[in-house]
Amino acid sequence: MSLHTSAVERLCLRDIPLSSYSTYGIGGAANYVALPETIDDLTALYQDCKQKGLPWYTFGMGSNILFPDQPSKDMVFISLKRFTELKVDRGKWFVSAGTPMSMLSLMGLSGGTDLLDFTFLLPGCLGAGIYMNAKYNQGQICDIIDTVYYIDLSSPSLSVQSIHSSACDFAYKQSIFQHHPWIIVGADLSVPVQSEEQIQYMSSLVPVWKDRGNHPSSLPHFFSFFLGEVHALAGNGFATPQSMLDVIKYRTGKRHFDYPSCGSVFKNNYDYGVATGSLVEQLNLKGLEHGGAIISPHHGNMILNQNQAKASDILYLMDVITEAIERKFGFVPEPEIVLV
Ligand SMILES: Cc1cc2nc3c(=O)[nH]c(=O)nc-3n(C[C@H](O)[C@H](O)[C@H](O)COP(=O)(O)OP(=O)(O)OC[C@H]3O[C@@H](n4cnc5c(N)ncnc54)[C@H](O)[C@@H]3O)c2cc1C
Repeated sequence: MSLHTSAVERLCLRDIPLSSYSTYGIGGAANYVALPETIDDLTALYQDCKQKGLPWYTFGMGSNILFPDQPSKDMVFISLKRFTELKVDRGKWFVSAGTPMSMLSLMGLSGGTDLLDFTFLLPGCLGAGIYMNAKYNQGQICDIIDTVYYIDLSSPSLSVQSIHSSACDFAYKQSIFQHHPWIIVGADLSVPVQSEEQIQYMSSLVPVWKDRGNHPSSLPHFFSFFLGEVHALAGNGFATPQSMLDVIKYRTGKRHFDYPSCGSVFKNNYDYGVATGSLVEQLNLKGLEHGGAIISPHHGNMILNQNQAKASDILYLMDVITEAIERKFGFVPEPEIVLV
């Protein structure tokens, strides 16, 4: 390959359906999709896009995104899901942005701490988990982060900068990263490294995930991979804790991995005080279908792609829910999924 090949030419797949990169299984063909595995490649892509005047969109596993049926022809879609790296430095874990959050729970289990259990079977990569401040029950990503590393896309050098978690303005599904052109490249965890065995186990898991765990963005595949790993750990003497068994029970009970979806479509309105899913249930909207999409009969705040749904089908059902909630309960629910 010529030394002068540009990063976009070198790293982009061409004419790729975005549906393969979203757990919704929705999204038309994109002209450019890149899966950089290092910070150098990621930075080179941004530099090249800037030079060529191409717009870009950065994402992770696509488990909180609704891609358009007809993506913009010039847009370079950059998924960080192959940028998976774990490093130990002075007793602290550095975890790269593309590492699945669920892998953190295995780190905790193999290291004898329960602080990371809440990330078990939480779809998505750490970068987006920080961006969205992902949560499960009482656990939030911000609780386990010490320092976040990011690229400021407005700075010409695109050098990596750092920010302590106390300055990240974390709140319910909120972070400072939603208000700046900053791309998270990784973070130091506040959970210390426990043992050499833990480092070895985690280091061996990364290539396995890269090889067979993370392509395409399929929920059943994600579920079976991490279920398999937790069983393997149990076979090696690390018994699955009750908290993780509860996660399996909850998520399988709500059928989280049966159909393509992006999880909860709307945020909960804590001022109102009732979960959005319960409001949808009170409105008798569970099970409502449009095109290939359906409001989950098992969870009022999930809209499933049950049969080759289009983005427009999901948007239609979101509008129905929004209007009904506003009419009956007097507020407009805020979307949680990101509409690209
Ligand atoms: C079945 C199911 C269950 C779910 N359950 C939960 C749950 O219990 N709790 C919860 O919080 N969420 C839940 N989600 C939603 C999802 O898991 C989280 O929002 C997760 O953080 C998304 O990760 P991702 O890598 O897929 O992000 P993506 O969907 O790829 O991206 C989401 C957003 O983050 C931005 N982003 C991604 N990476 C970066 C980065 N490195 N730097 C800056 N911005 C970035 C993107 O631009 C986009 O705006 C669920 C989803 C599904 C499908």
